[in-house]
Amino acid sequence: MKGKTRGCMGLTLAGALLLLSAAGCGGSEGERVPEGTEEAMQATPETQTQEAQTQGTDGAGLAPAESELYVERVEGLPEDFLFGADVSSYVAERESGVRFYDYEGNELDDQGFFDLLADQGVNYVRLRVWNDPYDAEGHGYGGGNCDLEKAVRAGVWATQAGMRVMIDFHYSDFWADPAKQQAPKAWEGLSVEEKAKALSEYTEESLTALLDAGVDVGMVQIGNETNGKFCGESDWDAMCRLFSAGSGAVRSAAAEKDREIKVALHFANPETEGRYADYAAQLAAHEVDYDVFASSYYPYWHGTTEHLTTVLSQVAETYGKQVMVAETSWASTLSDGDGHGNTVAEGSNDRNLPYPISEQGQAMELRDVIAAVHAVGDKGIGVFYWEPAWIPVQVYEESAKDAQAVYERNAAAWEKDGSGWAASYAKEYDPDDAGQWYGGSAVDNQALFDFSGHPLESLRVFRYVYTGTTAEPVAYEPGEDAAAEDAAAEDVEGNLLLNPGFEDADVSMWRLDAPGDCAGIREEPNNVRSGAYCLHFWAEDAFSYTAEQTVVLDAGTYRAGAYLQGGDAGDDAVFQLYVRVGDDTRTAETEMTGWQNWSNPEVTGLVIAEDGTEATIGVFVSSGPGGWGAWDDLYLVKE
Ligand code: CA
Repeated sequence: MKGKTRGCMGLTLAGALLLLSAAGCGGSEGERVPEGTEEAMQATPETQTQEAQTQGTDGAGLAPAESELYVERVEGLPEDFLFGADVSSYVAERESGVRFYDYEGNELDDQGFFDLLADQGVNYVRLRVWNDPYDAEGHGYGGGNCDLEKAVRAGVWATQAGMRVMIDFHYSDFWADPAKQQAPKAWEGLSVEEKAKALSEYTEESLTALLDAGVDVGMVQIGNETNGKFCGESDWDAMCRLFSAGSGAVRSAAAEKDREIKVALHFANPETEGRYADYAAQLAAHEVDYDVFASSYYPYWHGTTEHLTTVLSQVAETYGKQVMVAETSWASTLSDGDGHGNTVAEGSNDRNLPYPISEQGQAMELRDVIAAVHAVGDKGIGVFYWEPAWIPVQVYEESAKDAQAVYERNAAAWEKDGSGWAASYAKEYDPDDAGQWYGGSAVDNQALFDFSGHPLESLRVFRYVYTGTTAEPVAYEPGEDAAAEDAAAEDVEGNLLLNPGFEDADVSMWRLDAPGDCAGIREEPNNVRSGAYCLHFWAEDAFSYTAEQTVVLDAGTYRAGAYLQGGDAGDDAVFQLYVRVGDDTRTAETEMTGWQNWSNPEVTGLVIAEDGTEATIGVFVSSGPGGWGAWDDLYLVKE
């Protein structure tokens, strides 16, 4: 994940596809860290929770912690479970003047901030590193301007607080994620072998510099969210050659310094059927040497925690690898704190949610993700929270009189210090995304600090999971916040289609031509736009299908529409809404840009000349191997 605004989620993928077709390179998305030391735990002032951990028990039999936040105990959680915090933006934030406080309201210095994390049970800090996030004049691209020097600074504070450090090499000059895996400027044009050599040298030099500076590196990530693309390469032979080069360099640097450092690989989109099994099989076939298979997990994009456990268990059991969540987060509010739109906001990733948007929701989410990784068994080693401290430079309130002035001061700080997700200077390297949408933090409402830098109670979940808390259990029906809105969405006024959202048991009005069961009307709460059912599709091999219904219309002008979400269908995929009247067919093409990113193709101005005219409304999909997604909430209305 990164700081993208909600407005550019789709453009990111589109930009990547452009890149793919234009330059033969592309990319896709993610980030963060793991492991707890005795020292970190003993440094805490907590009482009951501390005893639970320092006594080497899992908290069984100990009294729950006093808190107004409800946290259910995770049974049998080992004391060495990794609780990570990715604070990659911290140094740039501080350079922009951001302040942090402890629970008593005392302002913290840098060491105090890292001590606070450790006191709350965080035992690992994750730091992303970009090769050269600067233009020729030395202007930073933003996103924390995360170069090696900043990782050294933050890494030393983390180490002195008793935490270990995970270094997340993107092997790019800016964000690497499922949509972007651009090689560093300095490596452009290199052959795979030349790139492997450069990557190996860079890794060993950087890691050695960190160790020499006294940073307690315990894990190194070779690439970030490398979903089928890595460092400008997109075939598995080349990717695995580069993974192996990075891994070998970590092994070599660790041996040189007599250290044990785990090698992690990091992927995203655990919700896709078969994705991780395929990736792990590729890594095994290419004999890539790694220790940890890490995943991003954002509940509004990445399926259920049960499914996460299933796909991570498959990798753990089949290949004997350790697994973890390298990134997760949840929103405490739908408000924006800095004047730059957020990933989770009203109308964006706020529907059919499994947890409430609140501090309590953060606690439930983090607790469940920890439980989901622990449910894998001994191989499930940890969970890292992504950017819990990426808060506003100055707090922006849309309705305040000085809103524009605050925004301008924030924007100036993002440009100068790189404390936003991207600065305008990134456009030379990332013209289609950062070049268009540069700005502040898109995750300030997913931090574990409030907008003005005070720690939220949800930061204490890393401790509370050992004992549970005294608060009354919170009942939350998944999706209940969006229930009223959903009801409205299903009930488009004057909709002439029958069973338009696939919720009724009688589906006979829909004619489905879907060879091999590649598509069907299914109960898929994670894939719906509303309700519980949708027209879901997926197949391992290339596939195509149609689904349609016929209605009888009076004379008039009509508009038809549908909603589509999904991904991985390939560059040549076709997604079409069509309306057929006699020999005439009108179509509206669309595309898929990710889980729960709904596109809305429409056919408008459809003229029916005579009463009693039959019209057939349908959807057609032609997808490459592994494409997945869902249609929902079709409509046909008289204009
Ligand atoms: Ca924001």
